[in-house]
Amino acid sequence: MSVIYTPKGKAREYSPYACNIYMGCNHGCKYCYGPGISRKTKEQFLIIELRRNFLHNFELDCKKIYNLQSQVLFCFMTDPYNSLENEMELTRESLKIALRYKIPISILTKSNLVLRDIDIIKQFKSNISIGMTLTCDNEKDSKEWEPEAATPGQRIEVLKKFHDAGVKTWASFEPVILPEQSLSMMVKAINYVDLFKVGKINNYEGLDKKIDWNDFLIKSVEYLRSKNKDFYIKHDLRQFTKGYKLYGNELNMDEFINKWE
Ligand code: SF4
Repeated sequence: MSVIYTPKGKAREYSPYACNIYMGCNHGCKYCYGPGISRKTKEQFLIIELRRNFLHNFELDCKKIYNLQSQVLFCFMTDPYNSLENEMELTRESLKIALRYKIPISILTKSNLVLRDIDIIKQFKSNISIGMTLTCDNEKDSKEWEPEAATPGQRIEVLKKFHDAGVKTWASFEPVILPEQSLSMMVKAINYVDLFKVGKINNYEGLDKKIDWNDFLIKSVEYLRSKNKDFYIKHDLRQFTKGYKLYGNELNMDEFINKWE
C-alpha cells in the first residue's frame, strides 16, 4: 500500500509529494479539516492510530520515487510530531529512510518535539526544510485555537534553533485567524525564517467573511519585501489583490521546493 502520494487541489501548493505518518492528531486545532476528510468526529480524530506496516511501505515508496529527487512533505493530515511520536518514533525512522534514499523532505509541524531529531535533520544538509505553522501571537489565544500544540514562543524558538544550526526554515501563515496576530508573528519570526508562505482561513464559521484580506495581503507583502525575504502568496489569498501587483517567485511555489542537491 502506497503511503507517499501526490496532493490534490490546494494542498499541491505545498509540495509535489506528501506522506501522513499517522492517522489522527491530538493537537485539537479548532479549524482542523482532518476530521471532515477522514469522516471522523473531532473526538475520534484526536485518537492517533498507527498505519499498518508503515515503515515498510514508506521504504518501498522511497525506492519508487528515488530518481525523481522531488520533495515529500510530512504531513498534511496529522502532525508528524504529535504525542504518539514521542514513543513510536516513526517520523524519526522515516527521516532515516528518506536520508538513505536521498528523498528531499519538508516538515510542517506545531510541535517542539522536532528538535529531538536535529541530529538526523542536519545530515540532510540543504535537502530538508523545517516548517512551523504560525497563527496566534499569545498563549491564551493559542491554547484556545490549538490546545495541545506548542506555544507561539516555543514555535519561534524551534525556528531559531534550526536556523542557528544552518537548517533551512519556513513558516506557514495558514490559517490566518486574527490578521494582526499573524503579522505580529511574522515580525517575531523574521530573523529565523527563510521562506514565508502566506494564505488565509477558509470556510470557518463565517470568520473569513469578516476579514479585510486585501489589507492583510498588502501589509504582509510590504513587510516581507522590506526585509528582503522569500515569500509565496497562496492562491486563496491572491484572489484579494484588487490590482495590487505580485511578482515572480511570490507566485511560484515550485521555485521553493527542495530537490536533492
Ligand atoms: S496540527 Fe494539523 S492535523 Fe493536527 S489538529 Fe492541528 S490542523 Fe489538525
